[in-house]
Amino acid sequence: PPDVEQLGRATWTFLHTMAAYYPEVPSYEQQNSMKSFLSSFSKFYPCESCAEHFRDEMKNKPPKVESRWALGRWLCQMHNLVNESLGKDIFNCDKIDERWKDGPPD
Ligand code: FAD
Repeated sequence: PPDVEQLGRATWTFLHTMAAYYPEVPSYEQQNSMKSFLSSFSKFYPCESCAEHFRDEMKNKPPKVESRWALGRWLCQMHNLVNESLGKDIFNCDKIDERWKDGPPD
């Protein structure tokens, strides 16, 4: 079976980076594609218990795909739910662009 920690780090890197470069004003089609992507992702993520939790959380908090800002926030909150359940630090969602797009201010 895959290394759940390494898989997790790689996957969050991908997901947060994807959200950071999502269009500021996505078209209707882009919004639908992102919804489909996340739904499919939650079915095939190769850590079954992780995927199941993620699907449950997505039922309570459906993905926000109407803007780059909304998607980034939503994903940050989803990641924080996982962080909380694993006893990890909660990430400040005001810092997602700094972490995943722009880098630290100089
Ligand atoms: P990670 O949590 O992998 O985070 C990587 C980096 O992202 C951090 O160093 C930080 O810079 C940044 N970051 C942290 N929090 C946020 C945030 N909220 N928003 C933006 N950036 C942030 N593991 C389990 O044991 N059980 C599970 O049920 C489980 N479910 C998962 C579900 C999904 C969808 C994914 C992608 C992973 C899941 N994992 C699960 C793996 C787990 O979340 C971690 O990836 C893994 O434990 C490694 O943790 P880490 O401390 O290296 O940092």
